[in-house]
Amino acid sequence: MYQYSQHYMLCASASRMLLMCCLSLLAVHCVLLGTISALPADASFYKQQMLNGFHPQQKTDTCGYKSCNLGKDGMINVHLVPHTHDDVGWLKTVDQYFYGANNTIQHAGVQYILDSVVEALGKDPNKRFIYVEIAFFYRWWNEQDDPTRHFVKGLVNQGRLEFILGGWCMNDEASTHYNAIIDQHTEGFRFLETVFGDCGRPRVAWQIDPFGHSREMASLFAQMGFDGLYFARLDYQDRAVREKDKRMEMVWRGSPQNLGTVADLFTGALARGNYGPPGGFCWDVHCNDNPVQDDKRLHDYNVDDLVKKFLATTQEQAKQYQTNHLMWTMGSDFQFESAHQWYKNLDKLITYVNAQQANGSKVNALYSTPSCYTYAKNLANVTWTTKEDDFFPYAHVDHGFWTGYFTSRAALKGYVRWTNNFLQGVKQLDILSKLDTMDNSEIKLRTLRQAMGVAQHHDAVSGTEKQHVAYDYAMRLSEGISMCQEVVNDAYKKLLPKNNSATPPVQMFCTLTNISMCNVTELLKRFTVTVYNPIGRPVTTWLRLPVQGSAYTVIGPDGKNVPAQIVPVSKRTKSIPERKSPANYELVFHVSPPPLGFATYFVSYNSALEVFKQQQTQEKENVFYQDMDLRNEHISLIFDQTTGLLKQMTNLDKQITIPLQHEFKYYQSFAGNNSKGIYEASGAYIFRPNGTDAYPLKTNMVTKFMQGILVKEVHQTFSSWTTLVTRLYQGARHVEMEWTVGPIPIDDNQGKEVISHFATDLKTNGIFYTDSNGREILQRKRNFRPTWKLNQTEPVSGNYYPINSRIYIRDETKNVQLTVLNDRSQGGSSIQDGCLEIMVHRRNLHDDSLGVGEPLNETGSDGKGLIVRGKHYLVLDDIKSSGRVHRDLAEQLFMAPLPSFSDLKMDFQQWIKQYNTMWSGLKQKLPDNVHLLTLEQWSGTTVLLRLEHFYEKGEDDVLSKPAVVSLKGLFTPFDVSSAVELNLGANQKLADMKRLKWMYKTQLSTPEHVVTPIGDDLTVQLQPMQIRTFQVTLA
Ligand SMILES: [Zn+2]
Repeated sequence: MYQYSQHYMLCASASRMLLMCCLSLLAVHCVLLGTISALPADASFYKQQMLNGFHPQQKTDTCGYKSCNLGKDGMINVHLVPHTHDDVGWLKTVDQYFYGANNTIQHAGVQYILDSVVEALGKDPNKRFIYVEIAFFYRWWNEQDDPTRHFVKGLVNQGRLEFILGGWCMNDEASTHYNAIIDQHTEGFRFLETVFGDCGRPRVAWQIDPFGHSREMASLFAQMGFDGLYFARLDYQDRAVREKDKRMEMVWRGSPQNLGTVADLFTGALARGNYGPPGGFCWDVHCNDNPVQDDKRLHDYNVDDLVKKFLATTQEQAKQYQTNHLMWTMGSDFQFESAHQWYKNLDKLITYVNAQQANGSKVNALYSTPSCYTYAKNLANVTWTTKEDDFFPYAHVDHGFWTGYFTSRAALKGYVRWTNNFLQGVKQLDILSKLDTMDNSEIKLRTLRQAMGVAQHHDAVSGTEKQHVAYDYAMRLSEGISMCQEVVNDAYKKLLPKNNSATPPVQMFCTLTNISMCNVTELLKRFTVTVYNPIGRPVTTWLRLPVQGSAYTVIGPDGKNVPAQIVPVSKRTKSIPERKSPANYELVFHVSPPPLGFATYFVSYNSALEVFKQQQTQEKENVFYQDMDLRNEHISLIFDQTTGLLKQMTNLDKQITIPLQHEFKYYQSFAGNNSKGIYEASGAYIFRPNGTDAYPLKTNMVTKFMQGILVKEVHQTFSSWTTLVTRLYQGARHVEMEWTVGPIPIDDNQGKEVISHFATDLKTNGIFYTDSNGREILQRKRNFRPTWKLNQTEPVSGNYYPINSRIYIRDETKNVQLTVLNDRSQGGSSIQDGCLEIMVHRRNLHDDSLGVGEPLNETGSDGKGLIVRGKHYLVLDDIKSSGRVHRDLAEQLFMAPLPSFSDLKMDFQQWIKQYNTMWSGLKQKLPDNVHLLTLEQWSGTTVLLRLEHFYEKGEDDVLSKPAVVSLKGLFTPFDVSSAVELNLGANQKLADMKRLKWMYKTQLSTPEHVVTPIGDDLTVQLQPMQIRTFQVTLA
């Protein structure tokens, strides 16, 4: 999206979009299979070009840096970068953007852009163009004939068409998880490598539109082999200082405490905080600037004025940047649909600007690319400044903090996180069960990988798209999930049977258990639950299955009875309009699947009175004569007898007690008219409360206490639309808080932003900590920015940061840490000392005038307002022990066990004769600090494997030490015979990765870990926070 564009929505009919989506899914999978559509009308053009001597397959040294025009010494070289910024969904769906459909919303058609650019590039070897979003390029490539493909390969081989970034999309940086970020880049890189080889490998990252920039993104990009990163949006105050100090470009240290220089990345902020051309130089069909009118005999001759303006703009920009190289981004959103118009004017501009050199001008304009610009910067022999924090939050004006989208579309954010969990599990099952081409798993997995790829876009998971586009993203995920459920079934057909015995019953899936809805468990009296654990260590977790009966027998994989509890489904859950279920109860029991393996449990209805008695949950409502203690072996929570609110938490093992008050509050959204900065409204991007106070929600507080043999719960009704269930499971070392929020009322014509608020007496001195994309932790300080003196104009919103997986506060004196983990990305802060708040849901009645053209007003299936349900996990511990607890829990949350179900038509003894009830894909578990980040199909008989050390240095006395894993003898179904280490994006051998070296001031004490080669016995060593990527051959 572009900051100041204005588009208004005219919603297409849902049925039409359904049709489009289905058509696209049929079309999308054929590129690597070589399907070629009909010849386009201009195919003869490309044939003629080749007859004229254009040699597309000519393998030259002209791609990459060798193809660069580096300008003229002694002059200011202005690198003109023709580009288009193509959102993979925003105001229109990704398919509508590709074809140019639904143009009443926004005129944009990516297919025409690529048609037009390729033709223009073919006519002139001096011209350059960059392309970024592979989700679009892939669709376009798929529709080209052979001559066109050969022609385009030639353009790429000669550096005339260059891929920059090369991810499936340009992902959001605030609400994305590192697992999905790495995957979406791998998806794009892999296509480019397959089709274009090394000349298709992007050298530079390009995050020109995302609204704030995470440090982890810089670290990941560096590990993917990039030499540079460019973005446009940084805080207006930060930019002002950097422009003045010539610090618009720097070396960003992505992991200064852990990975050292391997995560350092040359980074540039684009001029004017903008990725379009300077004013007066926009020559797209969508622009209104005058063309270069260069016939002196005609009226309106303007060359002299344009050259003068060019030189003045150059001098202005030169004051802000080091070296005599400047970059101008010549293009913007969906531009270059008529490439000729842009290029014709650029050709003239270059000619007339450079003609002034004869008169002593020291400015040289040239066609270039971001990578050539980076190379020129690198050759300039300059010592660069460094940065070690991140670029959050982003404000474009004093009351315009882009911190609302950290939470916008909370349900979609939750769905994207869960889908990543499922996708990783299915990729593993595909490998472990050795599915072959007959199973078609590659195509099914690709569908979900690509749906996840577009969902990471900066107008997708960010929640800043129009409503019909949000539905489209969710539909793509849902279709991919359905296809991958078939892969799970195919995998279990191979893994469940013993000795090629009968095909096991069909596995069925329940994706709506979060609202206590599941056709299988609520309709069948006897069923199996097979739980797959995608983590390389055994885990134990709790299942809650909606059922109709009031007592069940549960048998574990070893044939022994498993204790179970029946918990009534709450009135609140039953009232969720999307829920269509006869279930009145939830069956709760404990499951323990082995590492990278499954365990099957057997559930059958049991009408015996003694079972019923044992499994029942006792309920008490509002019967507090004294404070209520919710307690298990490790934790005690005290609820106040008068207010019903939580007021104290104790870690019983460590004897740590803190006052802890929890409640829900809401900010009232500022309803501005956006006419100027002070009237900026709260909207999909912007969080702007009307004042600094959040209003508590505790009218009609009703509290219910529930207790059984496995779980104890406190149900709180804060209002008719805000409820909370606080759970302590037997043996758990964390508290589970399941919140249900919505429909947020708007009958008072006020938008609302709802927070979950924790207040303690911890002395925190304005300091709190948040994770970066689910990996390293950054320290935050209220009303403070590490690299400039902040003038704080929004005391709440200006202190909000993304929380991808956790936020915590510490009292160093008391040696106490309170950590809250979440199940999706959210925004949050510590607005008062000792307090934490996390925004869970928001509903606005005003558009914030930053392009989306709709208020963020999700209405749900009944049109009354969307209800969102999610979970927070609360941990209280001493500081030293907290790392181990939150790292371990975070891994289990984003890689939770995946249950599937089948109709049970035989008894346990018959089942175990035919099927495995417990199976692990690993011969021994992984070390406690190693995460199996990736296990998926690669090429031929090879598999892509990523191992990650998921602790930071110093976080834990034991687990922060280096870890060693031997790939030999690791897996049960196969062995690894050889391994080649790749870069993080898996598009280059690590041994071949030679990044540009930069001069910058760095602390000598900064660690730089040494990459240890793979041992003879395929042992791999991992340093804290290190991810190592291998292409492994299976024996
Ligand atoms: Zn964009």
